[in-house]
Amino acid sequence: LLEVCGVTKAFGRLMALRGVDLTVGENEFHGLIGPNGSGKSTLLKCVAGAELPTKGTIRFARRDITAEAPAQRARAGLSLKFQITSVLPALTVYDNVLLALQARNPISSLIFSRTRGTLHERVMHVLEQFRLVERSTERAAALSHGQQQWLEIAMALACEPRLLLLDEPTAGMSFEERRVTGELLIALKDRCSLVIVEHDLDFIRSICDRLTVLDQGNVVDCGTVSDIQSSAKVREVYLTRV
Ligand code: ATP
Ligand code: MG
Repeated sequence: LLEVCGVTKAFGRLMALRGVDLTVGENEFHGLIGPNGSGKSTLLKCVAGAELPTKGTIRFARRDITAEAPAQRARAGLSLKFQITSVLPALTVYDNVLLALQARNPISSLIFSRTRGTLHERVMHVLEQFRLVERSTERAAALSHGQQQWLEIAMALACEPRLLLLDEPTAGMSFEERRVTGELLIALKDRCSLVIVEHDLDFIRSICDRLTVLDQGNVVDCGTVSDIQSSAKVREVYLTRV
């Protein structure tokens, strides 16, 4: 579904990514790990189109999207939840999702607005998935931190993306919220592919099929969760430094 080939990203003299390769298949859950500053967020941004690679190509569903604008990629089925929030606290939970659906996919929202029920159903469906139905008429500001994170994921999912990109979705969550997040994500398994950045290795092991390890902009390892777990390189690069 996703093929990243030799992607390099320079910010001035700083090389954030140095020829990164990454492939993600249909319905694959792929974890990105690595120390702070290793280029994980930059890689997600290049895939989503928020940053343009200095070199290399990105293909999505067999189409070269390297130079496409983020909105174009979103229409093709790519959805990114950033490390920073996009929830609007003064709006209700319901309106946040509705807005995300309309803003990210104006064409489908035009089609769906003719049959209002369908748009409403889609909003309620993602709210249900993320256990937010009972809070739907409250302002987003009234949600707990963990629930706001779930709302963010629900917003990213509203357009039914083929590939969901999540940058540290469990940051700042309690142990229990993290556990529930894992369950909620696993429930999406037959509906989309996922690339997820997480610092919590146990969490990422519990939901991902394959992992890629970044260090200083290089891929230092890639494989199934059990391959990576036993990799000496990962112990050396990752476990000792984070
Ligand atoms: P963290 O785990 O802390 O989120 P990360 O792996 O996501 O780290 P990136 O945010 O991708 O790392 O950053 C990789 C490198 O690129 C860092 O050295 C960072 O300072 C630099 N960098 C990222 N974005 C920019 C930017 N817009 N301008 C200049 N430098 C940047
Ligand atoms: Mg980051």
